[in-house]
Amino acid sequence: MRIAIYGTEIREEYLPVYQKTFELFRKYEIELVLSEEIRSELHQRFQMETTEITCFRKDLESCPNIDLLLSIGGDGTFLSAVPLALDMDIPMAGVNCGRLGFLADISPENLEEALLQFMQGDYTLEQRVLLELIHPTNLFPEFNYAVNELTVHKLDNSSMITIATQINGEFLANYWADGLIIATPTGSTAYSLSVGGPIVTPELEGLIITPIASHHLTVRPVVVPDDVEIELSIGGRGNQFLVSIDHRSAPLDFSQTIRVRKAAKTVSIVKFNNLSFYATLRNKLMWGADRRNPA
Ligand code: NAD
Repeated sequence: MRIAIYGTEIREEYLPVYQKTFELFRKYEIELVLSEEIRSELHQRFQMETTEITCFRKDLESCPNIDLLLSIGGDGTFLSAVPLALDMDIPMAGVNCGRLGFLADISPENLEEALLQFMQGDYTLEQRVLLELIHPTNLFPEFNYAVNELTVHKLDNSSMITIATQINGEFLANYWADGLIIATPTGSTAYSLSVGGPIVTPELEGLIITPIASHHLTVRPVVVPDDVEIELSIGGRGNQFLVSIDHRSAPLDFSQTIRVRKAAKTVSIVKFNNLSFYATLRNKLMWGADRRNPA
């Protein structure tokens, strides 16, 4: 069994989780693969013995046959690990050291159980849809895909922007708003949820279009089939708007249109204990929590 560990930074409070992970890997004779940055940080800042560890630099191409990519951090760390997994078609899971842990849903206390279940094949693989930014193609040259959402947002002044939206070439609406989110089912519990978008289950074949602070009485979030192409043309008083795919952003001129669609690739996420989406909603987002309900 060969597992790659991914992290973006090691905060003081993450160290015990790294230590526990390494102990478990030794105990179950799991071969550890680690990013060079994390290895040198563990060595330099925390004097951990890391000379024997196999390392990767930019991608995992030099480390074949990896069974699992395990992120250590929060949901943001999990999101930034996706390019590595996608390139090599490796299933992903995340240990949560952050606050919410919706995507990175293994708690440090449950890590040993999760590793045992993984080694025994006692898990399910969920294929999560990604969005692909198909125009402009050079905005995020390293990775053009979003797990959660694509967002357009006002940028250089306090005015609203207008977002003319076409679905498969057919006009939907011209939103007057701070921005617009196109979310995958996975992203329905992220930014889109914060601005009133619906929660949809991961297997639903739909994309959610949710405006951010729209100045209309007649606009609501809408779910469209996931095999459409969505085009956004932005206008307003400034010159530029912000485009984000998950945690990455770039400014763009108003003259540029955005085109987005479901990607041909999916990302495989490992789920343990048959933990249902509804249970995660209740546990992580306190869905339906009400003191009148029995504990
Ligand atoms: P981060 O890691 O701090 O994530 C922001 C928050 O979103 C965290 O609490 C995280 O747990 C949660 N989150 C991320 N993906 C989720 C998902 N699929 N379901 C439920 N919760 C999820 O910050 P980051 O690295 O910048 O993450 C980027 C993500 O942050 C974006 O994809 C976007 O969805 C989210 N975001 C949210 C808001 C908002 O809610 N107002 C604003 C901007 C960005």
